[in-house]
Parts: sequence; structure tokens; C-alpha cells
Amino acid sequence: MHAPPVQRLITELSKLPGVGGRTAQRLAFHLLRGSDEDAFALAEAIREVKLRIGLCEVCFNLSDGPRCRICLDERRDTDLICVVEEPADVISIERTHEFAGRYHVLGGALSPIDGIDPEDLKISELYARVRDGGVREVVIATNPTTTGEATAMHIAGGIRQLAPEVSVTRLASGLPVGADLEYADELTLGRAFAGRRAV
Ligand SMILES: [Zn+2]
Repeated sequence: MHAPPVQRLITELSKLPGVGGRTAQRLAFHLLRGSDEDAFALAEAIREVKLRIGLCEVCFNLSDGPRCRICLDERRDTDLICVVEEPADVISIERTHEFAGRYHVLGGALSPIDGIDPEDLKISELYARVRDGGVREVVIATNPTTTGEATAMHIAGGIRQLAPEVSVTRLASGLPVGADLEYADELTLGRAFAGRRAV
């Protein structure tokens, strides 16, 4: 049995995605063996990110202020909104250099089985942005998974009702089906972007 503080660290580490009990134990021992300085730097980095980083009030991307850098960047098209599931997807798309518009981060995908309904995501906030006007196209870049597709269809339907003049597009096929956008390589994702189609 581990001493209670060690057990507590293992328990906390094992809550991380992809970290099972054995890996958590290995990480905990690694931290114990290493310098105080390294361990405190990690603890402080976690603390700082939680205290300083919040969500952009416009697009819900991660931000260290009320608005994220992309929303503050006046060179970016305001009439083009790319809808993604997670902040990590923004990073993936930015890497392709194929998109010069703004984003809207939903915070997940619809999944009734897991109890994730439209009101659990930033969907009404997206509709409000469209309703405010000045939007020409909404590119839906949710993951090519079952939940991502269902989310795309839901949003496309909603925008069609709300603002039929706004064109709604979806990334071209070619992305690995069932995979997260986050893991698509830049070239494939860039191509999917350039070849987006109306839905
Ligand atoms: Zn933003």
C-alpha cells in the first residue's frame, strides 16, 4: 500500500485521459524521484493555467482575456465562422493556414446516450452570432465521427431555419472516418478545408 499522499497523487493522475493505474503509478514515482523544483513547476503550471485561462466570450476558444487572440485579430474575416468541437481543433486548423475567418468552439458534440444535448453545447451562442448578422458562411468542422456528424446535421438544420441566406458547408471527405480532427495531418485537413461543400 502507498502512503496516503502518494495514493492521492496516483488517484489524481489516473483521472487524466489515457492514463491507467499503472501509468499513474509510474508518473507518481517519477515525480517523487525527481527534484522538488520540477514537481513544483508542474504543480504551478497547472495552477496558473486554471487561474488565468478561461473561454473567449465570443467564440469560446481558450483565452487569457475576455476575448481570444483570433477574435481580436482585425485582419481575420468576420463573415466566415468555422465551428469546431474543442479548442484543440482550432490549433489543428490554424496549422493548415487554409482558414482566415473566426471560430466557434462548441465544447463537445451531441451525444444523447452520454446525456449531451444541444443546451450543453454553445449552440444557441452560435445561432446568436448568426442572428446578429454579417455572417456569410458557417463551415462545420466537427469530427468525422457519429456524434460529430449528428452535431453537424443539427447545426446545419438550425442555421437553415434561422438564416437561409447564410451558406453552411462541411469539410470535404478524405478525413479518416471515426477519427478526431485533432489527429488529422495538416495536408489532409488543409485539403478537406479547401474542398468544403454545402450541406
Ligand atoms: Zn474568440
